[in-house]
Amino acid sequence: MKVTPLIASRFTSDGGSMFGLVPKPIWANCIPPNDRNGIPQNANVLLVELNDGRLGLLDTGCGDPTLFSDKELGLHGMTRDWPLMDALRQLGHAPEAIDFVILTHLHWDHAGGIGLVSSDGDVSWTFPNAVHYAHEQEWTDATSGDPLLYKSYPADTLAPLKQLPADHLHLVQDAQPNILPGIRMLRSSGHTRGHCVIHLEDDALHIRHPSAETFGEVRHLMFTGDVCPTQHHLRMVFQTAYDTYPLDTRRWKREWLPRAARENTAIFFDHDPTAFAAKIQADERKEFVVVNTLAN
Ligand SMILES: [Zn+2]
Repeated sequence: MKVTPLIASRFTSDGGSMFGLVPKPIWANCIPPNDRNGIPQNANVLLVELNDGRLGLLDTGCGDPTLFSDKELGLHGMTRDWPLMDALRQLGHAPEAIDFVILTHLHWDHAGGIGLVSSDGDVSWTFPNAVHYAHEQEWTDATSGDPLLYKSYPADTLAPLKQLPADHLHLVQDAQPNILPGIRMLRSSGHTRGHCVIHLEDDALHIRHPSAETFGEVRHLMFTGDVCPTQHHLRMVFQTAYDTYPLDTRRWKREWLPRAARENTAIFFDHDPTAFAAKIQADERKEFVVVNTLAN
C-alpha cells in the first residue's frame, strides 16, 4: 500500500475551541494564535493506493471554496484556492480516478469536499466514481436533525452524500470494520458518537514524502481524525471543545496511543499546520512525545 499525505484545505480555528480545557498560556505555546485568537489549521488528508491499484482518499477537507461566501471565507480564514485539487492535479490524478473516499466523520471540514449543491439545487460530486464510506452511527446522527447537535452537520455538506447513488455510499457497521484490503474503520466515538479512526496496515506500507526515509519504516498508520487532530493533542485532556462524547476521546487515547508507541505506528494528524504525521513514544511527564515527524 502506498500513501501520500496531502493538504486539502487551509483555514483558521479558534484556538480555545481546539484545545478545550487547556489554558491559553499552554496551548498558545503549542500553536501561536493570531490577534483574534485564531490558529492556523490544515485539513490534511491521505491519498491511498492499494496494492491492486485502486485509489482512494481518507477525508476530503473543506471542499470547493466557491461554496463559501466572502463572509464565510473571512470567518474561516480561507482563500479562494483549493489545495486538494491542486495536489491531485500535480500528481496526475483526475478526480474521476478516485475509487473510494473514507470519512472519519461528517463535519464540514472533513466531508465538505464530497460535492456541492448549485443555486438551482443541482448536486455534483467531486469524485463521481468513488464509493463513499461513512459509519452508520455517524450517518444516523448527521441526518437526524437533532437540535442538540446544533450546527454540526450543515445541510449543504450532507446534500451530496444524501443524493449519492445507493451503490456509491457504504455505511459501515461496528461488526464489520474491514472495508478494504489493509483498511479498517474503527469507531472511536469521542469527537462525535460515530467518529472513526482509520487503521492502515500493510507489510509494505510505503509513505510518499520527501522525509519518508528519515521517518523510517512503519507497518501501521492510524488516521486519527479529530480525536487527535494535531501533534499537540496526544495528552489525554488536550481535546477539542467540539467533542460531543469527550470521555470517549480520552478512552480512545488511553487504549490506542500506548499501542501506537509500541508498535511502530505513524499517527496521522488531520489538522496539524506543521506535521502530517509522527511516531510517538511514551513519556512519564508528558504522557507521549513525538520522536519523528513528517512535515507538511
Ligand atoms: Zn475537523
